[in-house]
Amino acid sequence: MKNKNCVDVNVNPCKMCMPMGACLAFKGMEKSIVVMHGSQGCSTYVRRHMAQHYNEPVDIASSSLNEKATVYGGEANLKRGLKNVIKMYKPKTIGVVTTCLAETIGEDIDRILKDFMIEEKLSAEDIDIISVPTPGYGGTQFEGYYLAVKRMVEKITVSSEPTNKINIIAGMMSPGDIREIKLILERFGIEAVILPDVSETLDAPYKGLEFEKLPDGGTTSSEIKTMSGSLATIEFGVHSREEHSAGEYLKKEFGVPLYRMPIPIGLKNSDTFIKTLSKISGKKIPEYYIKARGRMLDAMIDSHKYNGEGVAAVFGEPELVTSISSLCLENGIVPKVISTGTNIKKIREFLSEDLDKFGDEIAVLEDTDFETIREYVKEKGVNILIGHSDGKYIEEKEGIPLIRVGFPVHDRVGAQRQVTIGYDGSMNLLDILTNSLLGQKYSNYREKMYDMYYKKDEDLKEVTV
Ligand code: SF4
Repeated sequence: MKNKNCVDVNVNPCKMCMPMGACLAFKGMEKSIVVMHGSQGCSTYVRRHMAQHYNEPVDIASSSLNEKATVYGGEANLKRGLKNVIKMYKPKTIGVVTTCLAETIGEDIDRILKDFMIEEKLSAEDIDIISVPTPGYGGTQFEGYYLAVKRMVEKITVSSEPTNKINIIAGMMSPGDIREIKLILERFGIEAVILPDVSETLDAPYKGLEFEKLPDGGTTSSEIKTMSGSLATIEFGVHSREEHSAGEYLKKEFGVPLYRMPIPIGLKNSDTFIKTLSKISGKKIPEYYIKARGRMLDAMIDSHKYNGEGVAAVFGEPELVTSISSLCLENGIVPKVISTGTNIKKIREFLSEDLDKFGDEIAVLEDTDFETIREYVKEKGVNILIGHSDGKYIEEKEGIPLIRVGFPVHDRVGAQRQVTIGYDGSMNLLDILTNSLLGQKYSNYREKMYDMYYKKDEDLKEVTV
């Protein structure tokens, strides 16, 4: 637990390690596979979480460093691993993602990969091999994800002719959310390069007994190559460092205008996304979204009288936490505990317009753990938890319902299909939150009424007799 009692250790940290985020990002590139340079346990950890969350077979290779390689260097292991992976999977892209061990012994990955390409007589036409330095202690899955996307663009994008496309740098969103983004773009009639695109790769249709080692879908290298010529970039992510931002890179290197914005969850954030699409493309907002916005407003009016009783604890990666807190705040649910395991110190500042009026009532916890979150949940009288499955222990111990969103969800099905973005997705999530509060209200309202009115009369009787 952090801060309280001066003990600076994490108990059940509210985060996953940096390579996890990089592996998630690479799953959104066409026919790509990750080789984790480190010991086997790291790849098992990543694979297990991803396979359970997405309910898909997820292959992650490992250079499998042992004691000898740790002392003398893992170059031979990495090269052997790369050769095997190329032979077995025939990938178009390999992400070489480092781990604590590889970074601690100081492996010169870029030099090793350069030598490997020469020794194997490979060129960029044959395969893209992209390295990402991701020691587990260097950050969380959040930093790993954005850095991996930036490295893809840095490695592949070249100067190209102008196009009518828009670049969308997706945040850590579900395959269902990415499909929703595609639908929005289709209704606008906008062509886009979405990077990464996990809509098919991590939620593939059933194809009978046919098994593909690397599923179809994902952003292609040729799409990434031409991102320099796009009209603009929309990057979902307001907290990542500038040096981890693919959008900032495209702006600096190729002059592509950049619009960084929160993941479009909630009315305000969805408005920002829809209006920006209209502004960049010069196209009118489709009638569908005028009506969808109206339906969402109607839903907000219908449910606000119930949501006024909501006191939430939101936890997970910072972008999702920021956008969900925003949805809560615009609907009368007070997110009294806003928490993430990432050390960014920017959430309060970003939400200041909405948070300032609450003063100290709202605790914003960054670089935190679940022990601390639980303490605050008790202190603030939270009655709804919103976050990933690792919060289930608070749900069990405190008897507070947990609405599962984000990554990882390994004790429920359907996380890969969940849609929480745009007007429709936000309305869907809002209904789930409201219904959870209503469920609580109706399961104990007799007891509450008794306490509030009848018991009071009884006490009164006792006093007056
Ligand atoms: S924290 Fe380090 S050792 Fe642990 S799984 Fe992550 S990279 Fe591997």
